[in-house]
Amino acid sequence: MARAAGLAEPGGAPRPTIFAEMTALAQREGAVNLGQGFPDVDGPEWIREAAVQAIRDGVNQYAPGAGLPPLREAIAAHQREHYGIAVDPDTQVLATTGATEAIAASILALAGPGEEVLTIEPYYDSYAASIAMAGATHTTVPLIPTAEGFRLDTEALRGAVTDRTRLILVNTPHNPTGTVLRRPELEAIAEQARRVDAVVITDEVYEHLTYDGAAHLPMAALPGMGERTLTISSSGKTFSLTGWKVGWVTGPAHLITAVSTVKQFLTYTSGAPFQIAIARALTEGRADVSALREGLQRRRDLLVAGLREVGFGAVVPEGTYFVCADASPFLTPQLPDGAALARALPRLAGVAGVPISAFCVPGSDTADALGSWLRFTFVKREDVLAEGIERLGRLTG
Ligand SMILES: *Cc1c(COP(=O)(O)O)cnc(C)c1O
Repeated sequence: MARAAGLAEPGGAPRPTIFAEMTALAQREGAVNLGQGFPDVDGPEWIREAAVQAIRDGVNQYAPGAGLPPLREAIAAHQREHYGIAVDPDTQVLATTGATEAIAASILALAGPGEEVLTIEPYYDSYAASIAMAGATHTTVPLIPTAEGFRLDTEALRGAVTDRTRLILVNTPHNPTGTVLRRPELEAIAEQARRVDAVVITDEVYEHLTYDGAAHLPMAALPGMGERTLTISSSGKTFSLTGWKVGWVTGPAHLITAVSTVKQFLTYTSGAPFQIAIARALTEGRADVSALREGLQRRRDLLVAGLREVGFGAVVPEGTYFVCADASPFLTPQLPDGAALARALPRLAGVAGVPISAFCVPGSDTADALGSWLRFTFVKREDVLAEGIERLGRLTG
C-alpha cells in the first residue's frame, strides 16, 4: 500500500491536521483560537527589513544546498556561544525548510522498514507521519504528569529501547507539555542510545523560550553524545517568523551528509533572502529574543492563572508556547473526553484548544491517561488571552 494512504482520509484527500481542523472550527464559530501555536504579532521589524534588503540586493536565486555561508556560520557560532558545541559550518551544518524538513529528512535518511524510531509521547504530529513515510516502526515512551510537571518515565524508557531502535527522537523544550528535560532525563536517554548504538535526533525549536530560569540543555552537549546526535532547530519560534521556514540541523559530518542526500531531493534548497536575514537575526538578535521570552512568560502566567480560575488543572510549563490543562471537571456523558470537549468548545465557550490525545498514538495508554487534557497556546496578545479566559468562564456560568 502506498505510504501516503496512511496519512489520508478514506477517500484519498490529505487528512487535515488537528491544528487545521481546530483553526477552521474556530474561524467558523468566531472563537478565540488558542489551538494553533503561531504568534499574532510578527517578529522584529529590522529582521523583516533585512529580508526585504536581501531581495533588493539580488539574493533571489537558488542558495547552495547546504545553505548560504553566512547562515551556516551564524548557526555554528550560535551553537558555540550558547552551548559550547563546536560544529564546522562547512560539513556539520545543513540549512533546511524549517525544522519540519530537517526532521523528515533525518528520519528518511536514517531509518527504514524493520527499524524502530522511539519518540516521547505525547509528540509533535509530524514525527509519526515522517516515521510512517520512512516505513519504520514508531515506538514511544511517555511523559507522565507529576508534582514536578510532566516528567519522562525513565523506567518505561529502558523497556522501550530495543535492538531494533535505530533512532531516538527527543523534543526539548517539549511540545505539547512545556517540559524542559533535565540532565538526569537526558542522561537516561543517552545511556539507552549508547546501549543499542542508536542515533539521537533532538528537536530544539523552543530552545530560547524557557521560563523561570529553566535552562535548555542540548543532548549534543552531554559527554560523548556529540558524535551520535543530530540537533534540529529553527528560526520560526525564536524570532516569531513561523512563515519563513528557515530551519537547520547540525551534527557529525557523516550524518549531515546522509541527511543532505535526502534533503536535496525533497526541496533542494530553501528561501535564500530569508537565510540572509536569519543569519543576521542569530548574530544580532539576542535582545529581541530576551524580550520575547519575558513577554511570553508574562502571558504564560496570565493563561495559567486564568485556566485555574475557571477550574482547569493547569500545569505550569517550563518552556514553549503551550499550557496543558486537565479538563476533567468539564467532562460529561455527552462530552466524555478532551477530544469531544475540544470539538464542542468553540460553540460552548467561543474558544479553541487542542486535545492532548491528538499528540498520542490512537488508543495508547498515554492517549487514555491524558484523555481529559487540552493544550492551549499563550503566544497571543494579552488582550486576546484575557478575552479567551473570560469566555472560558462561560463553562461554569
Ligand atoms: C513548530 C514546531 C516545529 C516546526 O518547525 P518549523 O521550523 O516551522 O518547520 C517542529 N517541532 C516542534 C516541536 C514544533 O513545535
